[in-house]
Amino acid sequence: MSKVRVRFAPSPTGPLHIGGVRTALYNYLFARKHGGKMILRIEDTDQKRFVKGAEDYLIESLKWCGIEIDESIINGGKFGPYKQSERKEIYKPYAEQLVNDGFAYYAFDNSDDLTVMREKMKAAGVPSPQYNAITRNTMQNSLALSQDEVDKKLKSGTPYVIRIKMPRNEEIKINDIIRGWVVVNTNNLDDKVIFKSDGMPTYHLANVVDDYLMKISHVIRGEEWLPSAPLHVLLYRYLGWEKSMPKFAHLPLILKPDGNGKLSKRDGDRLGFPVFPIQWKNPDTNELSSGYRESGYIAEAFINMLSFLGWNPGTTKEIFSMNELIDAFSLDRVGKAGAKFDFDKTKWFNQQYLRAKSKENLAVDLQVILKENGISVKNNYVETVCHQLKERATFVKDMWDEGQYYFIAPTTYDEKTIRKKWNDDTPNFLIDFKERLKIISDFNSENIEIEFKKYLTEKDLGMGKLLPAFRISLTGLAMGPSLFDIASLIGKEETINRIEKAIKTLA
Ligand code: GLU
Repeated sequence: MSKVRVRFAPSPTGPLHIGGVRTALYNYLFARKHGGKMILRIEDTDQKRFVKGAEDYLIESLKWCGIEIDESIINGGKFGPYKQSERKEIYKPYAEQLVNDGFAYYAFDNSDDLTVMREKMKAAGVPSPQYNAITRNTMQNSLALSQDEVDKKLKSGTPYVIRIKMPRNEEIKINDIIRGWVVVNTNNLDDKVIFKSDGMPTYHLANVVDDYLMKISHVIRGEEWLPSAPLHVLLYRYLGWEKSMPKFAHLPLILKPDGNGKLSKRDGDRLGFPVFPIQWKNPDTNELSSGYRESGYIAEAFINMLSFLGWNPGTTKEIFSMNELIDAFSLDRVGKAGAKFDFDKTKWFNQQYLRAKSKENLAVDLQVILKENGISVKNNYVETVCHQLKERATFVKDMWDEGQYYFIAPTTYDEKTIRKKWNDDTPNFLIDFKERLKIISDFNSENIEIEFKKYLTEKDLGMGKLLPAFRISLTGLAMGPSLFDIASLIGKEETINRIEKAIKTLA
């Protein structure tokens, strides 16, 4: 394979959808796998759609995801600038070359001319009229007008666009790495604008010119760009670059979890999950859209989940670090069919990664939440809490939500447990048992358990007579990690205080 150079080429029109992150990820995995380069190119030729802050958002998102970029507006590189608005001057000569070679033409039509054409065609029974081989001769363009008229218009500064002259009835064949041969007849394509009246190229021309000049070897992008690919192939051909045309791989869509169609922000809002990697604040409305980062996801888990939306390793292994993904990834194993987004699976991935983290690591994150709640506790205490709770948590925040009793004595007690397990004898048992606890000299989990069991045997009591009441006294909850572990961690004095408090409160 010649040198692999791939690019992620987003338009800064808003936050980056997870579909875009997946495109970036597959490009990155492919580049790293083949020892190639990963380029980030900002495609901002459509100034009307430009959104403030979107570029910084993109860069921060990729960074959070661990997708490293080799060449970009930040990293630099030999093929810059890496932002299309800064490359403005590069494109016009190519557009003009296409005109001179007879593959494109100037079109002076204003929006009224276009409306008139469309209406005429509709009246003649054409349901979706286009600017194409049928209509172009009736329009204000350099193919229909005389050379004199064209010169006059150009000289007088009449605004114009440059359109591709789509050939009649030609088959364009694209060998897509994922889809195989895709064949499109040019009769189904229109004379797309490739250069606009504002002096900027459109996406199509800029994309092809840049991919060529940046020596891109593979274009890996979303399926929504497949309809544009035949035009891109023609542009390579007409510019004389067909031999160095990149290979194409159009990735399948990410579908909504229920029903068909592409996963949208609305689906996320409706079903309660983020569709963006990091939180986005709309600069015009200040509206916040949630992100995986702020929702407590571990970046590696998010990436692992995304990698499986369209690709699979061909084995049952599901947990992959970025390096393992790089090793295992191949475009051959990317499917054609859309991949359904599965939010439960996303949480499952997070849970797996959370479990794999060390207690020291988790404690750092839990300390942040504790601080926010005005709680200051020694680090090894927090580490033990993490150790005891991590199997039960999906997010670090769950450890706070479900484990507050490690830090604050309960003020409420689970009603169902009280109803079922707290009866007239309970306070007496607890008072008795509390005295046993007092005499334990080394108040560790094992000794507490021994004393607890001894007491039950002596009194000929079943577990159910005391354990739920003991638990509810210490935690207020019906369930949780080993109670003996909890008691030993909060300590003898606190355990006894909590039992006394529960007896008093529930009397
Ligand atoms: N600028 C296009 C986008 O926003 C890039 C498409 C491509 O990769 O060719 O997705």
